[in-house]
Amino acid sequence: MQCKGGKPQHSLSEFFYIIPNEWANKCNKKWICRACMEAIGSDNALQDKNMKITNTKRYCANHLRSCSYFAAKYSSEQINHILSSATSSKEQAHTDDEEENDSTHSSNSLLA
Ligand SMILES: [Zn+2]
Repeated sequence: MQCKGGKPQHSLSEFFYIIPNEWANKCNKKWICRACMEAIGSDNALQDKNMKITNTKRYCANHLRSCSYFAAKYSSEQINHILSSATSSKEQAHTDDEEENDSTHSSNSLLA
């Protein structure tokens, strides 16, 4: 897996604070949920290892889905919209491909 320095951030980035100088691994930074940070205070959040999330879309979406502070800030409709738009758009390079052939296509080819 290659590590590109200036990887574009996914659409969940606006809900997270990017911790300067803190890396999950050599490619990924650590982020903190802004809703959590506001709720418990940024100093506390920065000292709490459990608050720090690797900045992949999957980890961020998982956190927001289960975050009670985030749920208190946004309605469940908003959260659903935020998460579905973040997780359905694959990468920024493929914005206009069709979304209907995800699993049906591969199962058809197995049968044929
Ligand atoms: Zn949170």
